[in-house]
Amino acid sequence: MSADDPDPAAFQDQPISQLLVKVATRCNIDCSYCYWFRDASVYNKPKLLGAEVLHRLLQRIEEHLVRNPLIDFPIVLHGGEPLLWGVENFHRIAEACKGISSRTGCEIPIAVTTNGVLIDDDWLNCFEAHKISVAISLDGPAHIHDAHRRTFQGAGTHAAVERAARMLASRGIGAIALAVCNPAYLPTDYVDFFAECGIANYDIMIPDATADENPPSIAAFYNGLFKLWLEANRSESTVNIRIISDMITALLGNTSPTEGVGYKPVELCTVMTDGSVEAHDVLRIAGDGFTRTAFNIFEHAIDEVRNEPRWKAARDASIKLCEKCRHCKFMGACGGGYLPHRFSKKNGYDNPSVYCDDLYSMFENMQSVLESHLYVTKPGGERLNVRDALPGA
Ligand code: SF4
Repeated sequence: MSADDPDPAAFQDQPISQLLVKVATRCNIDCSYCYWFRDASVYNKPKLLGAEVLHRLLQRIEEHLVRNPLIDFPIVLHGGEPLLWGVENFHRIAEACKGISSRTGCEIPIAVTTNGVLIDDDWLNCFEAHKISVAISLDGPAHIHDAHRRTFQGAGTHAAVERAARMLASRGIGAIALAVCNPAYLPTDYVDFFAECGIANYDIMIPDATADENPPSIAAFYNGLFKLWLEANRSESTVNIRIISDMITALLGNTSPTEGVGYKPVELCTVMTDGSVEAHDVLRIAGDGFTRTAFNIFEHAIDEVRNEPRWKAARDASIKLCEKCRHCKFMGACGGGYLPHRFSKKNGYDNPSVYCDDLYSMFENMQSVLESHLYVTKPGGERLNVRDALPGA
């Protein structure tokens, strides 16, 4: 929890270790805060990833895993809405990845992020058969979800998505519900809803905004959420709220598994429906064509993207923090915030997160509460709170 100076050189060059594959560039619903359609260039891409691109992609994945002895190589199928690609294509890619795994010895776990509207028994059978993990976008109860997640005709999608989430939970398919935080509501609105649906694994994500924007404060919401999480898990761990567990992981000095929390390089590689390769997908929040590179899987091996200037600029920016972050006591845990939230037209990524004040308050609150729960036993058996046991206490 100390304010060590960040050292970008500590991160050695590693092979690309996961892929985000855009299998569909269109969506079947019209969410108001979707970053994807902030970038009009997505309309220039084919609607779906075709057979020729899939064939080449699988060749590139195998080539990558033969060259680089990785233990696993996760693939996330994404969109637009990825289920528009069709269940047969999901079976096809999953079977092909099993073949690559058996030839290379590298596990290829497949995940999908979906709005859930199209999920039916065929999809559940497919997820189950191939152990595909599912992230389903569900913003808690209907009055919160339907304010933003609507059909193109303006109707709410909550009923369809809740139905899908309950189906996933009832089949025991490894699923996580992804909500976007709306700080105008209370954290209990979300927590009570997910408990009632039987969903014990979920995230309430920080809303996307660049440093040029002025989003509402989120600290009170997340400090309240942390309190609820603590109460729910006081006797045994029953509820996992991803952002809370990731922040605690980072505060305790470990590497958080998600990219938005902690100081580490963001090295995501995105393959588009035409086989072109892009930098971190969510950076398109910065505007038209911002993530575009000159690379594609027909002409380039997966790892070659590491030399592509725009990809490299985003990767390097993720570990080169601005002055304020470099001297912040939560630098290691916070890492300057989620990379897209640091972007401004004037300074590029050389800013603290647009949520800096909130993040500071959230980490400070969490640290103080955690410390009040940590005890050490001294030689002789005396049990002291960690604050009282520290030198100078
Ligand atoms: S964004 Fe704010 S809280 Fe996070 S490391 Fe930078 S200065 Fe600290």
